[in-house]
Parts: sequence; structure tokens; C-alpha cells
Amino acid sequence: MSKSVLSKLAKAILKQDIRIIDLTQTLQPSTPVIQLPPPMSPTKPFSSELISRYDEKGPAWYWNNIACGEHTGTHFDAPIHWITGRDLDDGATDTVNPQRFVAPACVIDVSKQCAKDERFLLTPKHILAWEKKHGKIPKGSWVLMRSDWSKRTDPAAFLNMHEDGPHVPGPNADAVRFLVEERDINGWGVEAVGTDAGQAFAFEPPFPAHALMHGSNKFGLASLCNLDQLPPTGALLIAAPLKIANGSGSPLRVLALIDDTQDD
Ligand code: MN
Repeated sequence: MSKSVLSKLAKAILKQDIRIIDLTQTLQPSTPVIQLPPPMSPTKPFSSELISRYDEKGPAWYWNNIACGEHTGTHFDAPIHWITGRDLDDGATDTVNPQRFVAPACVIDVSKQCAKDERFLLTPKHILAWEKKHGKIPKGSWVLMRSDWSKRTDPAAFLNMHEDGPHVPGPNADAVRFLVEERDINGWGVEAVGTDAGQAFAFEPPFPAHALMHGSNKFGLASLCNLDQLPPTGALLIAAPLKIANGSGSPLRVLALIDDTQDD
């Protein structure tokens, strides 16, 4: 590969021919976190506590102590997050190969279906229909499901808890299996609080976007936004979690590079 590829890219970014789209939700105390029924332990929401702000505790500087669970807001699911990925040597936030933090993205837009059906499930049929229009999902890609769920700014509507569990769209088990086994993707990303559908506890296997993805050393991205600004193909994602020792995931900034000078 020519050395000039990077310098061309840098120039294109400076000229804004390549635009950077921020796929990250703002992390704040009101950021919704996943709800689990007892006796399972809940995660801490995000909190921020002032250390000093140009005052007697720190005359020239402002900073905070922050706390949250690893899976808070826009966040990365590392393979060891799930029991199926527990034995992977390169499945923690500090051991994942960093080469995999930069990868192309395929965006499957099912926002219309999700607007009509809060429990919409993506199936292999939808993926194959997408591929007919946009080409085969390349190996090593992120596959992102655009649901427009991030436009639910009210935390209750975002979590959408019902008596029978959350009503939130996601993939069915066959769709996850297809992406893992037939397409060998880098990972699976969604706009909702978790990568699995709200009713996925009742799937076979339960929580396939966790069980099958992480068991195959694939990643997850949850609580993404601005997927409506991405083309179906052609975006390049930068998604690198914090390098927490033996971390199961972390909040992160997810950036998409898109080329406005190209049609595809
Ligand atoms: Mn997670």
C-alpha cells in the first residue's frame, strides 16, 4: 500500500471531504442504564462529583471524579462480557487487538419497521434484502442496526419497560448466527440500551447478540446515535474502549468517517 494513503486521508479530513459523525450519546446522570430483575445486581448509573473549579480546592483548574458501570451510555461490549467469551485470551478491553478498533460499517435501516413495532426483530431475510441492494457484508465489518431508537430522549421511553420485559427492537437468534457464521463480522451495534432485543431473554439461545457474538470473539456497541447520518456502506468506524485491565467493556466515543465525495 502506498504511503500516501494516510496523507491523502489526513488532507481529506482537513478539507472536510471526509466528515466525522459522532455516534455517541452524551454521558450524564440521566443516561439510562439497563434494568435487571432481582436478585441480579444493577449497574451504577453515571455520576460526576466536583473536585475543584478554579476555587480554593484548585485555584487554576477544574476537574471531576466520575463513576459508572462499564456498560453505561454509548459503550463497548468486549467478548469476556459474556460467559461464552470468558476464556478468550484477547477478549478483554486491554487485550483486544487494537487493529479491530477501526473497521468499516454496514448500516441496516429498519427505522420504519421499528416505528410500527417496538418489538421488531431483524431476521436473516432483512439482512439478505439489504445485501441485494448494497452488496455482501464484508468480513470484519461492523453491522449497525438503525432503529431511530436514540431519538427517544425520555429515559422511560428509551428503556420501554413493560410487565413482560422491555419492548425494544433487536436481532433474532438466526440473524446473529448468520452474521457470525456466514459473514464473520467485527461486531454488532445498536441504538438501544443493549445489543439484544428486549425480549431476548426468551430466545434460543437467550441473548444471542451476547451469547453468540461474544462466544465468537465479536464485539458489541450499544446506545449509538446519529445512525441516520450514515450511508448504508462506506463509513469507517473508530470505536476503541478504555484500556481497563480485564475490563468487560467501557463507555467510549464512537466516531464514523464518511466520504462525501463518493456515492457509495
Ligand atoms: Mn453492554
